[in-house]
Amino acid sequence: MVILFMDRNSENKEIWLGELRKNLPDHEIRAWPEETGDRAQIEIAVVGAPAPGELERLPNLKAVLSTWAGVDRLVGKGIIPDGIPLARMVDRSLRADMTLFVIHWVLHFHREIHRYGELQREARWEPQPYCETAGRRVGIMGLGVLGGDAAGKLVGLGFDVAGWDAIERPMEGVTGFVGQDRLPPFLERTEILVSLLPLTPQTEGILNRRTLSALPRGACVISCARGGHVVDADLLEALDSGHLDAAALDVFREEPLPATHPFWRHPRVRLTPHVAAATNPRTAAEEIAEDVRRMVAGSPPRHLVDMARGY
Ligand code: NAP
Repeated sequence: MVILFMDRNSENKEIWLGELRKNLPDHEIRAWPEETGDRAQIEIAVVGAPAPGELERLPNLKAVLSTWAGVDRLVGKGIIPDGIPLARMVDRSLRADMTLFVIHWVLHFHREIHRYGELQREARWEPQPYCETAGRRVGIMGLGVLGGDAAGKLVGLGFDVAGWDAIERPMEGVTGFVGQDRLPPFLERTEILVSLLPLTPQTEGILNRRTLSALPRGACVISCARGGHVVDADLLEALDSGHLDAAALDVFREEPLPATHPFWRHPRVRLTPHVAAATNPRTAAEEIAEDVRRMVAGSPPRHLVDMARGY
């Protein structure tokens, strides 16, 4: 098969090409745009952020394989030609890295490290009230590939974990809440909230004044899926009023986050530049190779995106 690697922004282009060629020695890997050649020969596009209209120019395209787990930049944007299947990235490194990121911030907030940071600046020696791990209520929105893994590991560490999902996903040790009706009780019991939902029209702005105020006073928020989930002004208001204690933000509506954005300097915001779980070309190329082998054998790729649902 002829496979085209297309990414406008990939800093890792040479690494990606090397890993894809290593894992798919019997296939031809071409780099867009310089090696595109005869477009009619290309059957698979491996894409990060393809240029709009480029995929439409591949007349024999059979599938698009995304190097990203989140496909909100590809769905509903006229980028994927009608009827062509799109598969998203599901990969062990992504899962492990996101889980470690979530655990880091859950422990940080659980053990009040954010508060000790403030106290240290004022040279105040003030041990905070003790909360045992089994009594700390963590809530994960979206028990999918990433949220499910983080939830399981947090249960293993002894936290009281709940999940909120669109359909029921029973998980041992995790209290499940399903659907819009169950969102308020899920939020009311959640002291540390983690958002690992995909960005869709249903989840856009889901962390807003109404949902944030349903969290108990002193709650903390970890936003590591998409910036579009957060209504920035509402989050700032909840932090400034003291209703929320702190927020760890990895993703933003506009990336890079503009230097003038109040999140940068807010004393209760911890900020990272969309690095919670970057796709690792070494492990991700193995997943892409597996899908290519499946397609050669006549099967569809795994982890197909439901274009109507948007994830
Ligand atoms: P996933 O497996 O598709 O999981 C998404 C979960 O959200 C599913 O359990 C899904 O429920 C649930 N969900 C979707 N819409 C919902 C709604 N309206 N109400 C309630 N639950 C809803 O996705 P994933 O692989 O875990 O990735 C999650 C997101 O993480 C990605 O979309 C991406 O945006 C983000 N991400 C961020 C980084 C980073 O570095 N910051 C890295 C990788 C991924 P059902 O399946 O039951 O419908």
